[in-house]
Amino acid sequence: MSDDHLDTLVSAFESELPRYLSELQEAWQGPRRGTRDAMVKIQEIAHKLSGSAGAYGYLGLAEAAVGVAATAAEVLSHFGQGHNPIQQRLFGQLNALGAHLAMPVRVEAGLGSLARPARDRRQVRHVVLVDDDVAYARLLQAEMRHFGFEVDTLTDLTALTHYLDQHQPDLIVMDVSFPEGQVAGPKAVQSIRAHAHAHGHVPVIFISARDTIGSRLAAVRAGGEAFFVKPFDVAELMDAIDRILGGGEQAAYRILVVDDAASLARLYASTLEQAGMIAQVVSNPLEVLEAMESFHPDLLLMDIYMPEISGVELARIIQQHRSYLGVPIVFLSAERDPLKQLEALGQGGDNFLTKPIEAAELVKAVSIRANHYQTLRSLMLKDSLTGLLNHSRVLEQLDHELRRAARLNQPLSVAMIDIDHFKSINDTWGHPVGDSVILTLARLLRERLRVSDVVGRYGGEEFMVVMPEAGLEDARRVIDSLRESFARISHRVGDKDFTVSFSAGVAQITPQCVDRSLMEKADQALYQAKHSGRNRVCIAPLC
Ligand code: GH3
Ligand code: MG
Ligand code: MG
Repeated sequence: MSDDHLDTLVSAFESELPRYLSELQEAWQGPRRGTRDAMVKIQEIAHKLSGSAGAYGYLGLAEAAVGVAATAAEVLSHFGQGHNPIQQRLFGQLNALGAHLAMPVRVEAGLGSLARPARDRRQVRHVVLVDDDVAYARLLQAEMRHFGFEVDTLTDLTALTHYLDQHQPDLIVMDVSFPEGQVAGPKAVQSIRAHAHAHGHVPVIFISARDTIGSRLAAVRAGGEAFFVKPFDVAELMDAIDRILGGGEQAAYRILVVDDAASLARLYASTLEQAGMIAQVVSNPLEVLEAMESFHPDLLLMDIYMPEISGVELARIIQQHRSYLGVPIVFLSAERDPLKQLEALGQGGDNFLTKPIEAAELVKAVSIRANHYQTLRSLMLKDSLTGLLNHSRVLEQLDHELRRAARLNQPLSVAMIDIDHFKSINDTWGHPVGDSVILTLARLLRERLRVSDVVGRYGGEEFMVVMPEAGLEDARRVIDSLRESFARISHRVGDKDFTVSFSAGVAQITPQCVDRSLMEKADQALYQAKHSGRNRVCIAPLC
C-alpha cells in the first residue's frame, strides 16, 4: 500500500475515535446508564474498536478495548444480580480505554505496512537459466522465450550470486554438473540459500544430462522443485514452471468485503488489492445481495457483528441463492470465544479469522479459499484438456464482446486457428502426443495473448480467439507472431523431435457484420490459408 493511501486511512480512523469516546461515555454515564441496553452498547463498541485499532497498529487501544469487551460480556452474563466487583473492574478498564481514545498512540505500522507492492498477475515471468553448456543454454532460452518468458542465461556458475544481488528472477533453472564438480549446481544453490537471506526463496528447477541417484539426491537436498533429464520437452518444463509459480492464466481473486465499519473494510480491501486481488467494499449489509449480483465475488469476507443483520444470518440468506452456492464465506470478528466461532462456522461460514489480523495471514486465508472456489468453477466452464474456455463458453463470450463492441463503437477481431496436418501427428506419434501438441498451443495462446482476449478451444485442434479493440491488421500481426513461435517449438517424443504449424483466418467486425457470421468469415479465411499452403494467416475481406 502506498504510504499516502495508508496515511489517509489512518487519519480517517483517528477522526472516528472521538465519536467512539462520546458513545462510550453516553452509554456509561448517560440517562440509560446501568441498563442492559447500555451494557450491550458498550460491549459492541469495544468489540469493534478492538478489531480496527489492532489492524491500524494502535495496539494499546486495541488491548484496552479487548479488556472492556470481555468484562462487559461478564457483566451481561451476571446481569441483574446486584452490585458486583466485575462492574468495578469494568469502570477501571473504561477509564483506561477512554484515555487511549483521547490520546491514541500508533505503536506499530499494523496491517498496512505489511502489504507487499502490487504484483500484476499477468506480468512477464522472469527466469534465470544457469548452464555451462553454451549452445544448449542458447537453445533452451530461445524456446522459453517463445512462450513469453523473459530469460537471462548465465554460463558461469560463480556469476549467480552477483546476478541475484542485481535481479529478482521468479525462478532459477539450474544445470546440475559444472566444471567445478558433478553436482556443483545443487551445491551452489544450497550455499546461496544458507547464506543469503536477502535473496528470499527463489524456486529452482534442476536440469541434468545424467540421470543418476547422486545428481537427483543433490537436487532434492538443495530444495529443487523439479528435476528434468536432458533432452526434455520444453512444454513439460513450462508445465512445471506454471505449477510452481501458480497458473498465470488465473484471474485475480474478487473479494467482497462486508463490514459496517467502513474505514476498516476499506483497509482490508486495500490490503487484498495490494496482494493482487480485486476487492469491493459493502458497509451496509443489506446491500450485499445486490453487490453479489453485480460483482461476482470469489469470496466474501464478512464481519459477524453488524447492526440490523448479523453476518451469520447474512451467510444463510446468501446460501439460499442457488447461483451463489459454494461461494466461500470467511468471517472476521473480534469474537474470541471458540464456542461462538464454532457456531458461526456451523451456520455456513468457511473460516473464522480473529481481529486484529496481520496482512500476511489475511491474504493467505483469503487466497487459499478463493483459489479453491475458482478451481471448482473453472471445472464447469473450461475444457478439461487445455483449461481454455470450452466451445459453448467461448461462443457466449463472443456474443458478449460483440454486444460490447457495438455499444462502444470499438473494433473487434476474431481468429480461427487450426493445427496443420494434425491427423498425421496422431497417426505417427499416437493420440497422447497429439494431446500434448494441443496443450502446447493452448499454453502459448494463454501466455502470449492479452488478458482481455478471449481464448477458447473451439473443437479438437481448433481454437478461437476473440480480440476486443483489435483491428484487422493488429489482430493479424499478433496471430502471425504466435504462428511463427509455435512453428519453432520442437516437440519431443523419446529421442526424436518434430515441429508443427498452424493456419489461421482473421476477420473484423464491420457495421454490416456484428454477429456470429463474423466467425464464418474467419473460417473462410482459415480455409483459404489451408488451401494456399498452410502455416500462414489469411484475413477476411471487410464487407
Ligand atoms: P488440416 O491441415 O487440413 O487441418 O489437416 P488435419 O489433419 O489437421 O485435418 P483435420 O482438422 O480434419 O483433423 C483433425 C484431427 O484431429 C481429427 C481428429 O482425429 C483429431 N483430434 C480431434 N480432437 C483431438 C484431441 O483432443 N486429441 C487428439 N490427439 N486428436 C484430436
Ligand atoms: Mg481441424
Ligand atoms: Mg487441422
